[in-house]
Amino acid sequence: MTRARELTQAYDDLVPRDRLREGFIFGGERVSFGSFQRGIHRARIQRGPAALTLYTSFNDPYADRFDEAGTLFTYAYRAGPIDQPDNRALRAAYELQTPLVYFRGLAPSQYLVIAPMFVTADDPAARTVVLEPGLPTQDMQPGGLVSGPDMRAYTTAETRIRLHQQRFKLEVMRAYRHRCAICALRERSLVQAAHIVPDIEPEGIAAVVNGLALCAIHHLAFDRNVLGIDPNGVVHIARRLLDETDGPMLRTGLQGFHGAPIAVPRRPEDRPDPTRLEARFERFARAAA
Ligand SMILES: [Zn+2]
Repeated sequence: MTRARELTQAYDDLVPRDRLREGFIFGGERVSFGSFQRGIHRARIQRGPAALTLYTSFNDPYADRFDEAGTLFTYAYRAGPIDQPDNRALRAAYELQTPLVYFRGLAPSQYLVIAPMFVTADDPAARTVVLEPGLPTQDMQPGGLVSGPDMRAYTTAETRIRLHQQRFKLEVMRAYRHRCAICALRERSLVQAAHIVPDIEPEGIAAVVNGLALCAIHHLAFDRNVLGIDPNGVVHIARRLLDETDGPMLRTGLQGFHGAPIAVPRRPEDRPDPTRLEARFERFARAAA
């Protein structure tokens, strides 16, 4: 759990498979997180029968059930006999209420890691279980899953937001080919997915039409309303900054883009929604006035 959570923090919630393949050290031994080919994994070092990790592939046909239902994660048994070892390990995690680490593939070789995750219902007839995230400290004591249904509903909703945000980030980066829409910088560690309408608002959906790939400086300038993008995709720099004199970052990096068009994704369905741009631009205009 600790290692999985460390990786989640180190990689800003989207862990590359190569790092997960390294596994973790327990009792002086290297233990695998799983093969990432099989969905249910029980490590050889374990004495108990329950699964240690679960994995959902990027192209799993069941993977989107969660989003349709919107409230719960479900996980399908492995195909084949119901009592085969993987399914026994999955069902044992339900019977014993032991915590799991869940890896959810969101892009080829990129995983959202949810830990601890508990199996809170088992439906052998449907061959599925329900997964709910637990609390990292309270639910990891010997007493097992102590958080109540309300708390778990809350952690599930939070996890759902994480999932949507990470998917949004991946989709925006793909659509803009990892380049800043303003300056075309393509240094991946400096390019971010920005929301046009902020995500705390109803219109601030985590969809590519409400997104822009922006480098760190243009992202912050956009968020602080010193840089605006009008509904036609033209960049505006606040008057205050246009009148200022400073070094190359201001001159070239900001003033130099005043009146320039942003680069938009090739596919029309990925391009920024003009209505959202307009709503956002009004705020810039008000703040800059
Ligand atoms: Zn930029």
